[in-house]
Amino acid sequence: MSLYTAKKANGGYRISKVTDDLEFESSYITTEDSCECPAGHRPSCRHREMLPDFLARGRVGTAWMLDYDNGQWFWYNVDQGTLSNTGPSTKRNTFEGGLRRRI
Ligand SMILES: [Zn+2]
Repeated sequence: MSLYTAKKANGGYRISKVTDDLEFESSYITTEDSCECPAGHRPSCRHREMLPDFLARGRVGTAWMLDYDNGQWFWYNVDQGTLSNTGPSTKRNTFEGGLRRRI
């Protein structure tokens, strides 16, 4: 799995790759027409491709992670340290605060 999260940063968005062990591996500042990753000089790259998806779904700065290779979304449950594809419960939404603390 290639999991990614997105956060607002430095006038763009910080897209971070997360390993299967949920460790942050690498991150790049991306905007809709630029990226600081090694493929940044190309017309597009995976970060620029996935950014509109994060924006359209309102998943920037949340615990949602995109599995880019499979186009699947996972919700990172900070309390349990697990991923689920069902998303947060609407009653008890403490995950966002938890993720912010960890980052
Ligand atoms: Zn890139």
